[in-house]
Amino acid sequence: MASEYEFEVMDEKYKTFVVNLQNRTCDCGACHICGIPCKHVTRYIARRQEDVVDYVDWKLTVEAYLATYSDVMHPLLDQITWSIIEGLKILSPKVKVKVGRPKTMRRKEPGEQ
Ligand SMILES: [Zn+2]
Repeated sequence: MASEYEFEVMDEKYKTFVVNLQNRTCDCGACHICGIPCKHVTRYIARRQEDVVDYVDWKLTVEAYLATYSDVMHPLLDQITWSIIEGLKILSPKVKVKVGRPKTMRRKEPGEQ
């Protein structure tokens, strides 16, 4: 038996997902990645006549943004004043060349002629 906050949603392709509003999770995984409720969660929130904004992750709110940038950021001095560290050499990244001839043709998008 499903609880008040856990339920199953079927999308337009008849694929089912388990949504948990308390944990703010959905089987599709989109909620975990971006912090914004996916279309499955949004559908059920609208059915409950609640505000979707209440289910957005706190890190995406204005309060979180203001808290992140509340500290003073001091400007750097000119690059001429920076101290030089001897013995530190920056190397280029290692590039692995793939076997075979490199592709010269661009892949066309679907519907492109
Ligand atoms: Zn989902």
